[in-house]
Amino acid sequence: MGGLTVAGCAAADVVAAVRAMAATVAEHRTELTHLDREIGDGDHGENLAKGFAAVLAKLDAATPETPGAVLKLVATTLISTVGGASGPLFGTAFLRAATSVGDTAELDATAVAGALEAARGGVVARGKAEPGDKTMVDALTPAAAAATETAEGGGDVAAVLAAAAGAAATGAADTVPLRARKGRASYLGERSIGHADPGATSVSHLLAALAPWTS
Ligand code: ADP
Ligand code: MG
Repeated sequence: MGGLTVAGCAAADVVAAVRAMAATVAEHRTELTHLDREIGDGDHGENLAKGFAAVLAKLDAATPETPGAVLKLVATTLISTVGGASGPLFGTAFLRAATSVGDTAELDATAVAGALEAARGGVVARGKAEPGDKTMVDALTPAAAAATETAEGGGDVAAVLAAAAGAAATGAADTVPLRARKGRASYLGERSIGHADPGATSVSHLLAALAPWTS
């Protein structure tokens, strides 16, 4: 195991992870927008791309000293730049993750899993969606659970991230047959069935972007 396992998960590693997330969002921008066109208003890819571009600009201008400070910078930037329902939700996710890790200098597997659980909790507290409502919660919930299980089983940071990414991908794919009960897609009723939820798909892409840290 390389990456974070050897180097630890210090602020610079979290910055690199966030940069990888931004690259993934840019890469999947059109796909996410297409998904949102099917069951929403077609802005999800644009919303996230705009937010993460702003995050990159902030990271070019500042060097946060702890993992928590990096996550907080991401949170405040997403909250102020991403329109739509997903901006405050992703912002809350990163803010709760930041609070959860506190001022720890290096995150271990338990801290990473705890951050994911906190992110999931923040999204649920803010958006009131439950698993099965066809939202990003359907990717975040299995991701956090897999992360916690892996950390509790003695897995390292790489194993925790790999487990989270795998579970999020499955969770996002599993939203296809669901009928949306929260957010804009819920206005479509039965017609929301048969498409993947954009937010769940973006969560899955964001976690998959951490794959270089999982080998
Ligand atoms: P908007 O719906 O305002 O256009 P976006 O297109 O950026 O915002 O994001 C849509 C995504 O936000 C959905 O695919 C869903 O995953 C997520 N979402 C919407 N409402 C909620 C909610 N109440 N709880 C959790 N996630 C939600
Ligand atoms: Mg939208």
